[in-house]
Amino acid sequence: MLNIPEAPLLPGATHLHSGKVRDLYELQDGPHDGHLLMVASDRISIFDFVLASTIPDKGEILTRMSLWWFDQLADLVPGHVVSTDVPASVAGRAVVCERLAMFPIECVARGYLTGSGLLDYAATGEVCGITLPGGLVDGSRLPEPIFTPASKADLGDHDENVSYAAVEATVGAETAATLRELTLAVYARAEGIARERGIILADTKLELGRRLDAAGTVVLGDEVLTPDSSRFWPADAWTPGRPQASYDKQIVRGWALSPESGWDRASGEAPPPLPPEVVERTRSRYVEAYELLTGERW
Ligand code: ATP
Ligand code: MG
Repeated sequence: MLNIPEAPLLPGATHLHSGKVRDLYELQDGPHDGHLLMVASDRISIFDFVLASTIPDKGEILTRMSLWWFDQLADLVPGHVVSTDVPASVAGRAVVCERLAMFPIECVARGYLTGSGLLDYAATGEVCGITLPGGLVDGSRLPEPIFTPASKADLGDHDENVSYAAVEATVGAETAATLRELTLAVYARAEGIARERGIILADTKLELGRRLDAAGTVVLGDEVLTPDSSRFWPADAWTPGRPQASYDKQIVRGWALSPESGWDRASGEAPPPLPPEVVERTRSRYVEAYELLTGERW
């Protein structure tokens, strides 16, 4: 089901782990001995399948976007990035970062209702134990942003929304409060920045961890506020009550589910390779998001 290609060999680096999209290495010797190297590939996953097709430049676009966001957030929470001086073969798509003890929690903030939040709400009127007003629909703005943590699933499994009490039970009450506070602060900052640029940040997933030193400061890890970890919607097209246009894999998902692809989602098989036109439109969408958010040309 998961057809993740073997991670490339990199000089001075030991491969630790490959996720659906990123390859993680540990660096040895050299100036960054003991640090991690996180490499973003051009792989794309939908419905938890890694597709046979890649999206040119996706890894580099998302890496640059993430770096830009770490800068925007630096006064709220320290980020894990140490350097962008990386082996030539992964230049632009990789960062050197400090190794953190990651919390086993996906820290999600939602300002709008959709996706798994909408499913939970439809079933129970709640998301992660938070009761929401009646009458909300797909894309509704919530009365206020909420912290909706999820447990981190193993590769190939789906993450599962959990209650705040479950987070407290996992990391302790004090740390749980810190995670919620940081997640909501990052969301509020990013939502404001995106809004000024005509983009709605519907929700976002953060991964936080502790520094390995005695102080154990909580640091923002992973990627941040990319279309792979967040939902960005063009504000001028926002219409609650239906799925929103979005700056992510919407084009790919739409194609895969259309009769044109010939893919049967129920088959358990990965979707077929993407037509070049779908690849190109998806790439443009990522570039557009990058340019709108950062104000920089790709
Ligand atoms: P997927 O995202 O495909 O479900 P995944 O989350 O296991 O799988 P990736 O997102 O590709 O894989 O890889 C990033 C991994 O590195 C995650 O497990 C994340 O928690 C971890 N990680 C990110 N930053 C750090 C860090 N600074 N120190 C230690 N681990 C980190
Ligand atoms: Mg991940």
